Amino acid sequence: MSALPYAARATGLVGSVIDSSTSLLHKQTHDIVRFAMGSPAAEAVPADILSAIAGEQLSRPDAYDYAATEGDPPLHAALLEMLRGTSDETTADRLTVTAGGMQGLDLFCKIFVDPGDLVVVESPTYTNGSATALSYGAELLEVPVDDDGMIVDNLPKLLDGRRPKAIYTIPTFQNPSGATLSLARRNQLLELARTWGSMVIDDDPYGLLRFAGDPLPTLRELGAGDPLVFSVRTFSKIVAPGLRVGWVDADPELQQVLINAKQAMDTCTNLPAQRLLAGFLTGGHLEDHLVRQRAEYRRRKEAMHAALTEHFGDIARWTDPEGGFFLWVTLENGINTEELFEMALPEGVAFIPGPAFSPTGRFSNAFRLCFASTAPDRIWEGVTRLRRAADKLAPN
Ligand code: PMP
Repeated sequence: MSALPYAARATGLVGSVIDSSTSLLHKQTHDIVRFAMGSPAAEAVPADILSAIAGEQLSRPDAYDYAATEGDPPLHAALLEMLRGTSDETTADRLTVTAGGMQGLDLFCKIFVDPGDLVVVESPTYTNGSATALSYGAELLEVPVDDDGMIVDNLPKLLDGRRPKAIYTIPTFQNPSGATLSLARRNQLLELARTWGSMVIDDDPYGLLRFAGDPLPTLRELGAGDPLVFSVRTFSKIVAPGLRVGWVDADPELQQVLINAKQAMDTCTNLPAQRLLAGFLTGGHLEDHLVRQRAEYRRRKEAMHAALTEHFGDIARWTDPEGGFFLWVTLENGINTEELFEMALPEGVAFIPGPAFSPTGRFSNAFRLCFASTAPDRIWEGVTRLRRAADKLAPN
């Protein structure tokens, strides 16, 4: 027992197994194929373009000042332009620049979640999102996901008469399953939220990374400005996560509340990073960049499928995402994937075990693989190592 005078909420701070894997992997000195973090490929980060923009934009002292809390005007304007004509088209009074998607989730919970409030999450769900809700004292209800995303039909029964304060969904190429919420379910979810007066947290960082299938309208578009829809977006997956820049698109009534909450948190989002992104967008680099990334991520997903078919075809099944970074593997031979992680790390491969994606520790037979960060030949090597580790746990 510590003698420190903690606030009650400190005991609810659960952190993230995913983020902790970054530190864990940094400490390893041997060669590891990294399927753990959801980072873009190092080669996909447009470092040369960003450093040319830095040469122009970041040589002036004003680039190091405080920024406007709602976002530096050049980025705010460039974002509106970027979204024009897309499913996320919006207006200036709805847009607040944030320190990545995570801050969007944190701001949402700070503004809407009281201790004891019920928040619906997908099962499996994005660990950091559920951790954020838990850190504000939310009670979580897990709703299973299938190939069409959250099984919205199950919601009323699982709620058993209770009304959730919020429903948290990652509708497109879900983290961790790779599943996409179907159009019918998107509409059904919005309808239920309206019936219950529940907020919908529309966390959609991967939507622009579709490499197969037909695009679906975002919840932002389907919601058509409904104040119940709170959309969280980020540049982390489409440009670079270390910039820590994202945005929230929410009802105009919320903008001042978001500004107040953000001013009591970090004053403003990192200005040099905002200037870099504004230069990237106004320089017209995003579209070409996305075209290249989508093609490469498709190649990598196919490489991972081929490697899984070869090495895990007899003991597992896996999802087939049409975009994004992740696929979800379910083992059918009784291996516990947290034990597999311990065995796999010395073997030279890392992934995130399934229970990290469930507040109640479900999915001990499953794990998440990020195919986006690793080149195809290394994907093959990583999956080969993973099978070696699996065989050490349960020799066939
Ligand atoms: N939501 C989801 C579903 C994510 O996958 C991530 C990143 N892994 C985030 C939010 C957080 O994004 P950021 O790095 O911009 O904070």
